[in-house]
Amino acid sequence: MIAPLTLEQLQQRFGGELANGSVEFDRVCTDTRKLDADAIFVALVGESFDAHDFAADLEGKVLGLVVQRRIEGCTLPQWIVGDTTVALGQIGLLCREQFSGPVIAITGSCGKTTVKEMLAAIFGQRHTPCVTQGNLNNQFGVPMTLFGLGPEHDVLILEMGANGPDDIGYLCGIGRPRVTAVNNVKPAHVEGFGSVAGIAAAKGQIYTSLEPGSTAVINADDEFADYWLRNMPDDVETLRVGLGLDCAICAENIEVGGDGCPSFDLVIEGVAHPVQLRLMGEHNVHNALVAAGCAFASGIPAAEIASGLALAGSVAGRLQLLRGRAGETVIDDSYNANPGSVAAAIDLLAQRPGRKILVLGDMAELGADAEAMHRQMGELAAERGLDGLYTFGPLGAAAVEAFAAAAGGSAHGFSERSSLVAALENDLTEDTTVLVKGSRSARMEEVVRALTDTG
Ligand code: ATP
Ligand code: MG
Repeated sequence: MIAPLTLEQLQQRFGGELANGSVEFDRVCTDTRKLDADAIFVALVGESFDAHDFAADLEGKVLGLVVQRRIEGCTLPQWIVGDTTVALGQIGLLCREQFSGPVIAITGSCGKTTVKEMLAAIFGQRHTPCVTQGNLNNQFGVPMTLFGLGPEHDVLILEMGANGPDDIGYLCGIGRPRVTAVNNVKPAHVEGFGSVAGIAAAKGQIYTSLEPGSTAVINADDEFADYWLRNMPDDVETLRVGLGLDCAICAENIEVGGDGCPSFDLVIEGVAHPVQLRLMGEHNVHNALVAAGCAFASGIPAAEIASGLALAGSVAGRLQLLRGRAGETVIDDSYNANPGSVAAAIDLLAQRPGRKILVLGDMAELGADAEAMHRQMGELAAERGLDGLYTFGPLGAAAVEAFAAAAGGSAHGFSERSSLVAALENDLTEDTTVLVKGSRSARMEEVVRALTDTG
């Protein structure tokens, strides 16, 4: 926090009741395993836990409580509210209001963390950014990031994720960003939104929530770009980025090197700045353009954007280049998967020299189209000329069938990771590249570990 807050201040602004007086604090905790004597404790309630069960034992261990029911027999100051998750966001909002620097927020189906890390690299050159840690992008993570704002920070970069139709609007009400972008819309997590159009509307709240004078960075290559532009609030600036030369910021002369990392000319206001990315995959050019748009809208000079993009490094589990035990190349993209990111991974793998094998764990949360989407991925893998497909999970069968029918190549489905690894190990040569990908629930990092573990 930039300055301390009091429970009384919160109660006066947001309502609720105070018990046992007020207290000043500048830290917040929600985990009883990580208590902090100088913090207040917010008792969150989840489906399978209720932190109120522990609240009575916190005397002497924290400064005060935020609770949904008064904890009797406890002398700690308490702010009693209707919903402690909402209260967490309200505390976050007050922290946000203490900050006067640029505030950027990114949402989208995939690449949010990548864009956020690119922005951290760009700003990190000459500024001290406060950035979402890891993937803390929801109704708990965004307030946590805001609590971390300190007097040393001069820019705030927020990742925002959506599981439901109103999540982004809610998060914007807390983070109050001034420069925002939807990185892209792909059929990820269709469940909960109804359709891809439903996802576009939900993510579009990052634009419709903008206050006058803010800037909307639009990925002009996304099929919903015009939809967002049509629904833009008055007095919001728009900045279009994309491959088209009509965009304010675009990329020209894109080339993908032998290591899979693209280079391109970043063209800002008609001036080209060469960029060599350290991240693999052509889709990272799109991510770089969105990051460049957000940085430019926040006042960073073009040359500094280009040099920052070149510094952004890869993150564990996201297209990380590793060496396997048989001397093969392993690309670890096990962090997560949806049809958009699998298609991007197939394109990347297709550009590698030598034999190319895709190892795909089931993509989760795709709703009624799940099987069809797995079939499409099998077809695409065949179309791009991959040499083999190994799948893990029941939905993989559809991909295997499609791949075998289209390519006649070797495709195998497995219901256990260990048998997948055993079969794959007999199929490896030094000139093979294996790309491992799957939804979080498929835990494909275990396959990566088995392939690369030399201990
Ligand atoms: P999450 O919803 O889990 O927070 P995210 O949106 O933060 O994901 P990243 O963690 O940056 O996304 O990347 C996740 C996966 O998406 C990676 O496997 C990456 O290869 C892929 N990906 C990243 N950017 C794009 C893009 N622009 N188009 C397609 N796939 C992408
Ligand atoms: Mg993320």
